[in-house]
Amino acid sequence: MSGRPTFLTDLRLEQVEQLLQTLGEPGWRAKPLLAWAYQKKADSFECMTDLPKASREKLPENLTFSSVKELELLVSHDGTRKALLELWDGCTIETVLVPAGRGQFSVCVSSQVGCAVGCPFCASGRTGFERNLGVAEICDQVLYFAKQLCQGETIGNIVFMGMGEPLTNYLDVIQAAGHLNAPWGFGLGARNITISTAGYIPGIEKLGREKLQLGLAVSLHAADNALRNRLVPLNRKYPLDKLIAATDAYVRASGRRVTFEYALFAGVNDSPEQARQLALLLRGLNCHVNLIGANFTGEDSWQASSPDVAAAFEAELKRLRITVTLRKSLGRDIKAACGQLKSSHQQRGIDALTGVS
Ligand code: SAH
Ligand code: SF4
Repeated sequence: MSGRPTFLTDLRLEQVEQLLQTLGEPGWRAKPLLAWAYQKKADSFECMTDLPKASREKLPENLTFSSVKELELLVSHDGTRKALLELWDGCTIETVLVPAGRGQFSVCVSSQVGCAVGCPFCASGRTGFERNLGVAEICDQVLYFAKQLCQGETIGNIVFMGMGEPLTNYLDVIQAAGHLNAPWGFGLGARNITISTAGYIPGIEKLGREKLQLGLAVSLHAADNALRNRLVPLNRKYPLDKLIAATDAYVRASGRRVTFEYALFAGVNDSPEQARQLALLLRGLNCHVNLIGANFTGEDSWQASSPDVAAAFEAELKRLRITVTLRKSLGRDIKAACGQLKSSHQQRGIDALTGVS
């Protein structure tokens, strides 16, 4: 296979200016060109009708327009959409569009193909790590869904909660977040871009030093080390006391409240005693807890807690003065948990080969 192409959204404004100049074009055309890609939902260089025809013809020889191609799109009855996207080398990733009410949507982007962390309840963790995504491969997931929106609908949030551990692909993730935030790019406020991590402390520390105002979510799922070692194996290297200290330092450096994600698994981490342990761990931290309904990924040990148990867990946290939201799990009918569509697509491929219907 030949090498990785350079995609338009890999480049910063000044890099596009330079490229245009080497092609004998004025650098000022970089801004309108990028506006076509990020704001005006162009599908190709050909669509950019206010650029001279000669430039439109020269550009594709040097740059590839988009880095993602739709393989499959599932639409849930609740409006959630999930896409399986193919990359230049045949790797596949998932991206989800989640309705947030009043014409606003969140896009949940992947940062890697697969994931090396290996959380046993997560479909991405089970497939293992293939490679990091590049800047364009991250930005183009957002643009792919932006093009599907109707007038009056907007993307109000971008969350790095798809496949992969974003903080172990730090440079590309931060540059992509920069393009999505830049006025010449997608133009979304940094506060509306959230990076979710399984607790990779060196990345949290680095992020704190950048002073970027990005949101941080930490996937906790357990408040004691023995259980968290099992649920999130990264905990063996970065245990809870150090994780909480690093998160607290990020909160102080950024001035932003942090979110802790806690997926409730029946009989695993959902007892009132475990809620009390969680409240104790988070005491004094400027944080919000998101209780997530677990998505079933085919392993019996990781079933979602019943609504009553989840409500009791939430009530116990509230009683202990922890700010908490119990989230409805959206898009269950379309396998919206990370890595699930990719796994089922691969399985269907395997089934087709082996004759299973
Ligand atoms: N690797 C990062 C971001 C991607 S995962 C992280 O772990 O934070 C995004 C979120 O989905 C995490 O909170 C993760 O724990 C959660 N998740 C993964 N599989 C899940 C499942 N089957 N049910 C519920 N939440 C799940
Ligand atoms: Fe990786 Fe996050 Fe899935 Fe764990 S939950 S395997 S860190 S993507």
